[in-house]
Amino acid sequence: MESAKNPRFKALVSSGRPRRLSNFLPGLLNGCLDFARALLPQSCHLCGADSAGAPLCSPCLEDLPWLPRDRCAVCALPLPSGSICGACLDRPPRFDRVEALFAYRYPVDALIHAFKYGGRLALARVLGGLVARAVGRDVDAIVPMPLAHGRLAERGFNQALEIARVAAAGTSVRLLPDACRKVADTPPQATLPWKERARNVRRAFACDADLNGMRVAVVDDVLTTGATLNELARVLRRAGAAEVRGWVVARTLPR
Ligand SMILES: [Zn+2]
Ligand SMILES: [Zn+2]
Repeated sequence: MESAKNPRFKALVSSGRPRRLSNFLPGLLNGCLDFARALLPQSCHLCGADSAGAPLCSPCLEDLPWLPRDRCAVCALPLPSGSICGACLDRPPRFDRVEALFAYRYPVDALIHAFKYGGRLALARVLGGLVARAVGRDVDAIVPMPLAHGRLAERGFNQALEIARVAAAGTSVRLLPDACRKVADTPPQATLPWKERARNVRRAFACDADLNGMRVAVVDDVLTTGATLNELARVLRRAGAAEVRGWVVARTLPR
């Protein structure tokens, strides 16, 4: 995290200590924060300046690492030219397309880290709000990327579900929080080499909903190789989904 090195983002200081919370608490805390926000002048989550009621001030918003307009129409990888990247042409994924906002770089990585591991649950409002503003609304349902039981117990909340709640409210698209489950407690993708990630998530999900003919958006915080989204898309299609797209806050760019 570079937050300590950048004095501008002084409001972005996470406790760094994961909080153990029940599933019920994030919603409650966000509710309390929303109430507090209604009473207090809003300051920017990144620099702390007065942001006129918005979670981020305009200069901070402009400075975020927005993905360039030219990118793969399927996986959102920035491309100098063309519309579909070589990897998606070689092996078309099971999802139709990814709508991603940012490169997974500072300060977006720090925001996501503070949200997931630093107990800054109010940041779900920032991240979900940004997603809602950026995505196409021509979908029928939102499904959060499921989190394994063990990870949920450890973290206390599913970050994808918290972002999805805000994105659903902002887009007026129906949220299906329990449509899918993670049935295998696989090692975190981030701990594995990229090549091993597809195998790691194989048969990791189950879907109990009837999604016949539905256009489904899967919400997640970060997309790296796309292996997890690909596997969930396979399960969603088997449940009848006609279209699967990813709504992600940030996309990791190849090193
Ligand atoms: Zn700011
Ligand atoms: Zn691609």
